[in-house]
Amino acid sequence: MSRQDYEIVIGLEVHAELSTKTKIFCSCPTSFGAEPNTHTCPICMAMPGTLPVLNEKVVEYAVRAGLATNCEISKNSKNDRKNYFYPDLPKSYQISQYDKPLCEHGYVEIDTDEGKKKIRLLRIHIEEDAGKLNHDEFGGGSLVDLNRAGVPLIEMVSEPDLRSSAEAEQYLRKLKSILEYIEVSDCKMQEGSLRADVNVSVRKKGDSEFGTRTEMKNMNSFRSIVRAIDYEAERQIDVLEDGGKIEQETLRWDEVSGKTFSMRDKEDAEDYRYFPDPDLVAIKLSDEYVENVRKQLPELPESRKQRYLEEFKLSEKDAKTISASKYLADLFEQATKVCNNAKAVNNWIISDISRILNETEMEPIEIPFDSNQLGKLIILIDNGTISSSIAKKVLVELFENPRDPEDIIKEKGWVQISDEGAIKEVVLKILNENPQSIADYKAGKEKALGFLVGQAMKQTKGQANPKMLNEMFIEKLKK
Ligand code: ADP
Ligand code: ZN
Ligand code: MG
Repeated sequence: MSRQDYEIVIGLEVHAELSTKTKIFCSCPTSFGAEPNTHTCPICMAMPGTLPVLNEKVVEYAVRAGLATNCEISKNSKNDRKNYFYPDLPKSYQISQYDKPLCEHGYVEIDTDEGKKKIRLLRIHIEEDAGKLNHDEFGGGSLVDLNRAGVPLIEMVSEPDLRSSAEAEQYLRKLKSILEYIEVSDCKMQEGSLRADVNVSVRKKGDSEFGTRTEMKNMNSFRSIVRAIDYEAERQIDVLEDGGKIEQETLRWDEVSGKTFSMRDKEDAEDYRYFPDPDLVAIKLSDEYVENVRKQLPELPESRKQRYLEEFKLSEKDAKTISASKYLADLFEQATKVCNNAKAVNNWIISDISRILNETEMEPIEIPFDSNQLGKLIILIDNGTISSSIAKKVLVELFENPRDPEDIIKEKGWVQISDEGAIKEVVLKILNENPQSIADYKAGKEKALGFLVGQAMKQTKGQANPKMLNEMFIEKLKK
């Protein structure tokens, strides 16, 4: 049998840190990057005798996520203790949800080569995050930082409906996009706000039973997830082809070697000794409560995309790219209001801005300038103050040190040269230096004109008005 005879099966457990101001069971702040152990109190440090109180916002955010992913919302839900020992978990148990999660049976739609596909969500539950161990930073030992202990999480568990690393990536991007739109998580993957446990198995095509899966925990980059799935599927196929058996286990993905390593045998639900947390009351939600949350849901990416197709006549591809990110979508709509030129805003976002984001590995949320500044930049091009090549330099400035584009061009002396005398002077100089191009043009080689304009642009450091240059060259060449 060959690789083509196998099918890959993937299910993701996605953890998103909720962007509530305070933790799930105490009033410590949730913000990232503080000095270790400064966002702590007796409750999240698990002092004996303290009692947790559920943060109402956590329930609201989880319900919002459930509604945005087509889930049923449980009117009767509760918190359970999941018992396990790990040094960053001071209580020795995590408060989570076991048999009565807040949301169940939803789905998210992704685009595949064969059209739209629904990826089912088994459940979404709320739980508390653990602290963080910092290894080898101090005298070779490990230090624990409990700032993250008790930060609220939702865990979104998919059914094993994904069939390739590409589908897994699409699904994860879609989830991220939805969570950003409904503003329940900042989804900063590099800060661990969005991370996934990746379950992978393989089976022979046509088999009705799933194969044994392995799990890679806490992955927080699209690239690693795709690489890890491809590697792990390949590894499992090799084992099966050699007549071996897949062990159900937890693996660690190593980015440097590009391989997975065994960490521990997989634990089962029984190992966790779940039981209802006696310190917390049941979570009872009324129909009215759920309807209220539903009413407050913002417009979601799919609907925005549709609107961009109809209202602004964007191409399918551009509408999808822009609407996928709430930050890009907001930038697009607000900058368009400023300059009244949707096509130009679209082009700037899709080409130059996206390229800079890629090159600098920046997320759209980290774009330092605002929609007003982008809108103004486009106005300056549209009214002929600057050429588009100068505008590209202004954009770089906006990324480095955002300020009013008009101030930038004044400060840098980048105003477009539209003075007829000055244009004529450059044109004559370039013609003088390039007799061959004149001959070429007269012999019918249109390309020579483009070359001459390019030389004149170079001479003026991109500041000459290209339209005027073009006209002036033609006028002189015709003589
Ligand atoms: P846990 O990992 O907490 O024990 P589950 O057993 O419910 O939880 O499974 C978790 C994830 O594993 C789910 O996302 C599910 O889709 C996925 N999964 C289950 N069986 C398989 C399989 N055979 N192959 C790939 N993924 C699987
Ligand atoms: Zn606390
Ligand atoms: Mg799991």
